[in-house]
Amino acid sequence: MCIFCKIISGDILNKTILENDKFLAFEDINPLRKIHILIIPKEHFNSFEQIPANIMGQMTSFIQELTKKLNLNKDGYRLITNIGEHGGQEVEHLHFHILGGEKVGKLLG
Ligand code: 5GP
Ligand code: ZN
Repeated sequence: MCIFCKIISGDILNKTILENDKFLAFEDINPLRKIHILIIPKEHFNSFEQIPANIMGQMTSFIQELTKKLNLNKDGYRLITNIGEHGGQEVEHLHFHILGGEKVGKLLG
């Protein structure tokens, strides 16, 4: 089982920000900005390349609900997903990063 599937099953603890039956948003263990949240589907997909478009649509609504809840939609934020080796993906379970709470800057490096 992958590390994020273990978070979903409760085997690894997390600081949950928002959850429904299909998606989970939780704090990144190593925050790169004041706000650094990871959003994952509860169903395992290796990356953005694998997620069906209809589930991605539901995930979009979930992310928008999250950004409204945290008032991030007013000042803005960065939403990214890393894909594969060249994208710098370390955990092979699709996840989006939300970075915000301050000016994120032009590049993440
Ligand atoms: P990636 O480089 O794959 O896009 O990002 C993986 C992210 O997962 C990293 O930002 C890393 O800090 C985070 N991460 C890895 N393991 C854990 C964990 O066990 N718990 C939490 N909350 N975040 C994790
Ligand atoms: Zn997984």
